[in-house]
Amino acid sequence: MGRIDISKATRPTRGRVGGTDKDRAARFRERMPPAAKRSVFMRNEILLPMRSPPANPARTEIPDTTTAATEIKGMARGMGVDDVGIAELDASLVFTQAGDLPHTRAIVFGIAMSFDTMADIGPRSQDEVHRVYHKLDDIGVRLAHQIAAFGYNASMQPNEGDIPLVALAQQAGLGELGKHGSLISPKLGASFRLGAVTTDMPLAIDGPQDYGIDEVCARCGVCTRFCPGDAIKPFKQAINGVERWHVDTPACEPWFHKLFGCKICLMVCPLNAKGMFGTAFKAASRTLVQTKDAKGMLKLIEERTDMRYEDFVAPAAPVDEEPR
Ligand code: SF4
Ligand code: SF4
Repeated sequence: MGRIDISKATRPTRGRVGGTDKDRAARFRERMPPAAKRSVFMRNEILLPMRSPPANPARTEIPDTTTAATEIKGMARGMGVDDVGIAELDASLVFTQAGDLPHTRAIVFGIAMSFDTMADIGPRSQDEVHRVYHKLDDIGVRLAHQIAAFGYNASMQPNEGDIPLVALAQQAGLGELGKHGSLISPKLGASFRLGAVTTDMPLAIDGPQDYGIDEVCARCGVCTRFCPGDAIKPFKQAINGVERWHVDTPACEPWFHKLFGCKICLMVCPLNAKGMFGTAFKAASRTLVQTKDAKGMLKLIEERTDMRYEDFVAPAAPVDEEPR
């Protein structure tokens, strides 16, 4: 069953805000390619301060929440998102560090990453991730400003924001949680990133959907086989009161650091064949099949990027970037 039961969920606590060791976080950032660094600067120093605009005191009343939801989602699409849905904002999904978020709705959206670039895994893929994150935050800020102009409170939610965006996106019906810990969308496959805006504007919700993805993950183990950190668990676990797929973050982190954010699990997921990258995935999968497993994949990545990943000494402490 694809719908996750959050009725017994307890609030998660973010373990990575700011990182516990600023020096190690700085080393990770230092290794980023220049375009990724510029995207991080624009997100953190320019967009983040604008994430929660003041609400217009001349409020526009909302007589019909369905019409309002259609209008807001249309705005998001017009700004360039590839998919969008609206979730009820359940307080149990909000990080404890965020305090009491006085919002009731979340508009959650996704933007596809170029599959060819992601398949590279090296620095080019890190540029692509941060290009997309910047675009998501930029759209989130503009959407929050539009909602504020209606007279409602709104905040752009970046991936280091108040809420785990994968859980929120599942509740908005954008897709289902995959075994690799990321959302899988029937439209975008696994190669995309998420953004959101939370608000107190009354909007009709879309709610979670069952796309049959959970059942596929129960039978498939491709991401588990290709993960170099053996971090993707083949069984579900109860995490914060929710039974779900689970990724061992400490096991993922060394490879996340070595491989410029890794993403092997996203790239190899066969459900990419059903999304908008079907053609690109099918072409890439001919090579992937030949690599057979994590060891073969690492050899291919080293050949493509001309880097020796085993030689890189990764920072041992968490940094302020989500693994996926
Ligand atoms: S690779 Fe297979 S098991 Fe892993 S997320 Fe994709 S479909 Fe699920
Ligand atoms: S990002 Fe890499 S190391 Fe982390 S879970 Fe995915 S494949 Fe494994």
